[in-house]
Amino acid sequence: MARLYDSRKRILVTGGAGFLGSHLTDRLLEQGHEVLCVDNLFTGTKRNIDHLHNHPRFEFMRHDVTLPLYVEVDEIYNLACPASPVHYQHDPVQTTKTSVHGAINMLGLAKRLKCRIFQASTSEVYGDPSVHPQPEEYWGNVNPIGIRSCYDEGKRCAETLFFDYHRQHDLEIKVVRIFNTYGPRMHHADGRVVSNFIVQALSGQPITIYGDGSQTRSFCYVDDLIEGFIRLMESDASVTGPINIGNPGEFTIRELAEKVVAMTGSKSEIVYHDLPHDDPKQRRPDISKAQSVLGWEPRIALDQGLGRTVEYFESLLKTMAAS
Ligand code: NAD
Ligand code: UDP
Repeated sequence: MARLYDSRKRILVTGGAGFLGSHLTDRLLEQGHEVLCVDNLFTGTKRNIDHLHNHPRFEFMRHDVTLPLYVEVDEIYNLACPASPVHYQHDPVQTTKTSVHGAINMLGLAKRLKCRIFQASTSEVYGDPSVHPQPEEYWGNVNPIGIRSCYDEGKRCAETLFFDYHRQHDLEIKVVRIFNTYGPRMHHADGRVVSNFIVQALSGQPITIYGDGSQTRSFCYVDDLIEGFIRLMESDASVTGPINIGNPGEFTIRELAEKVVAMTGSKSEIVYHDLPHDDPKQRRPDISKAQSVLGWEPRIALDQGLGRTVEYFESLLKTMAAS
């Protein structure tokens, strides 16, 4: 439902052509806001925002957040950063720069504009956790020099910057720690487990389990996550986070592979590959803070969300085959 004009905001979404950023953009436009989408299209794609090109309240700007940005907006959502291990390990120095320089640039912009700023942080700040499930108070178990460190430490440093800008400059900040999220518009070749398994199952390729498949993850459907984002951004200024948003349903990777095979009716065999370095053994969010502070909890069960995601990839693979 459109809002009254006087409550309309001009909102900057960095990483707006990515998986999560494009869903967030859709949701903000539905609410009647204007959205300035800033993205360098490193992992994002114009296909994710194609449907918005003639939208009167949508604007796209190709820009790298490691460089300063001078725009006028009322609110900032900072999502720009490659998110899948394959993508963030492709150019690890650029990944750290995106998290750290990107955060400094966006925080500087928010400081000048005196506007609220949201940071897409990650469950990766907990590393390979020795506390399970992970509450926000847990400081994590992160390797500072491993192949995931460019992402994990970059995101940890970005959180530090957000809290220092808050303490030092009174900036209104909102920091969310996102747990594994899936759904339509995930990149088909980003190597993340849900997209990999579905694409492999649909195209009859072997399903690649890394390690023995006993490691666990908790999978949140994208619509649930975006609802959490909006609730956090609209919460009282005293609510800074960090706050976990994710689905506490926990599955082994082997269970996920079996679900995808059953759901797609695929004839793909399951094959086992080496586990990548520093791959966390378990992950599940403690969402009590999101429940009590934001009144948020996920609504979409894994089977339902996977069904919608399978439909998306079926249609994407057909389009790609035809073009
Ligand atoms: P994505 O790769 O689909 O989107 C990231 C977007 O940022 C892309 O459009 C990419 O082109 C853009 N980008 C990357 N570097 C940039 C730069 N230097 N300047 C401008 N744009 C840049 O990934 P996603 O899953 O949508 O993730 C969005 C955010 O959420 C990321 O910050 C990620 O760390 C965080 N996150 C996501 C998950 C998840 O499960 N999807 C989990 C934890 C955290
Ligand atoms: N994984 C897997 N097969 C794949 C892709 C990933 O077994 O084809 C595993 C991966 O090793 C990890 C889990 O699935 O244990 C989740 O991987 P993803 O890259 O999606 O996210 P993250 O490790 O960042 O949580």
